[in-house]
Amino acid sequence: MKAIRGAICAPENTGEAIYVATQALLGEIVQRNGLELDAIVAAFFTMTPDLDADFPAYAARDMGWADVPMLGAQETLVAGAPDRSIRVLVLAEGDGSARHVYLGRAAAMRPELAEPGDENWDITAVRGSGDFVELEARERLLVVGLGLIGGSLAAAASRSGVYASVRGYDRDSDAAALALKHGLVGGTGDDLPAELAQAEIVLLAVPVSAIIDLMPLVGRFAQPGAIVTDVGSTKRRIVEAMGALPQNVRAVAGHPMAGGTASGVTAATANLFRGAKWALVATPRSDDDAFAKVERLVNAIGARPVRISAELHDRIVAITSHLPAMMAVGLIELAGDLAADLESDAFLAGPGLRSASRLAAADPGMTAQMASDNADNLRGAIDGLIERLLRLREAAGGDTRGLRDRLAAAGATRADLIAKSSGHEGGRAKGEVSR
Ligand code: NAP
Repeated sequence: MKAIRGAICAPENTGEAIYVATQALLGEIVQRNGLELDAIVAAFFTMTPDLDADFPAYAARDMGWADVPMLGAQETLVAGAPDRSIRVLVLAEGDGSARHVYLGRAAAMRPELAEPGDENWDITAVRGSGDFVELEARERLLVVGLGLIGGSLAAAASRSGVYASVRGYDRDSDAAALALKHGLVGGTGDDLPAELAQAEIVLLAVPVSAIIDLMPLVGRFAQPGAIVTDVGSTKRRIVEAMGALPQNVRAVAGHPMAGGTASGVTAATANLFRGAKWALVATPRSDDDAFAKVERLVNAIGARPVRISAELHDRIVAITSHLPAMMAVGLIELAGDLAADLESDAFLAGPGLRSASRLAAADPGMTAQMASDNADNLRGAIDGLIERLLRLREAAGGDTRGLRDRLAAAGATRADLIAKSSGHEGGRAKGEVSR
């Protein structure tokens, strides 16, 4: 095991500067020490208090360090020490001595560790390397629909510093104005064709039927080579609509596995997607470069891209997302009928009802659309659940041991499934799981 030290100074306190500086520093550490990603055990970052625009770990994640445990902390700004500095301690498996990396102004921190010439290292020279953000070739991102998902994505993308600009459009001008006021986007416009014509990446974050309805307009006004992606909760119909885009417009469909029952721009938060899986689905207009750029967007906002077919996606979410929403409604209807027959004081319910029925509070239009879009898979999922409920009905009142074993197995499976789904709770309050 070796411990490699390094430091760099960011040119300014912006998400972009921290991102570029961190990737430059880690890139040099990896290259000079010949590190394989698998060999990196952990990384510990510190930053001077004058750098608070973003966490350096986000830049590391975009370099593929998503599975490396990382921790960041603020250090003391000692008089005379270089300002705006980012330091890292990388623990890596392997023999041999560590080559420490102190670049540019940071070389003055540890002249005895810095390598000759590193004091002249210039961050503005970090251009064109595939590992780093290409400062001159960054895309302009347009987010259409500035609600919970679009607003959160715009906020996270703005903070990442990866894009030349992040603009937003919403048919509700109040929502757009709020997104601008809160800094979720750098600009908004009410002329959608003009906005589309100026973006290299267009992300559609409106309800599924609106995504499909918007596709012809997007195809007409998007610039040649532009990449269209979306966040809709069902995928087959959207992939079909993307297949009808002009040949020179590319498209990769998507669905973040994070969210909540609150809607609108006021519920948006930049941390919503941290650690969440993000399904990416090929369309007839996908190519490798489009996938790479959409994956970069997903990584930039802290989520994890997972490639999957539209058919499998819809089959899975029927059980993991759409069925729970239907169960919540059925449960509330049953409890509501019971409550109607009781004196209001006699109705008893604890956290069980609250947590199991959370999705009954979701936007009814959105849930109804998911159910209708994915009706074939949802019906199969409901049949499967009814079958299991009937077996539980049978087991109730019978052999306690058999039932207890089944319950214990379900508890273990639940823990396993939560771990597999990344256990992400989308930055929401405890108990508010994503749908
Ligand atoms: P939301 O908070 O209601 O936001 C949707 C926004 O899009 C609203 O501002 C809405 O304006 C606007 N909009 C609707 N139709 C439009 C159109 N034709 N052109 C421009 N703007 C339009 O909804 P959301 O929860 O962010 O959901 C957006 C998408 O994300 C949906 O496709 C949903 O399936 C998907 N998704 C949601 C979740 C979740 O947990 N919420 C999770 C994953 C994926 P109005 O208010 O005027 O309608």
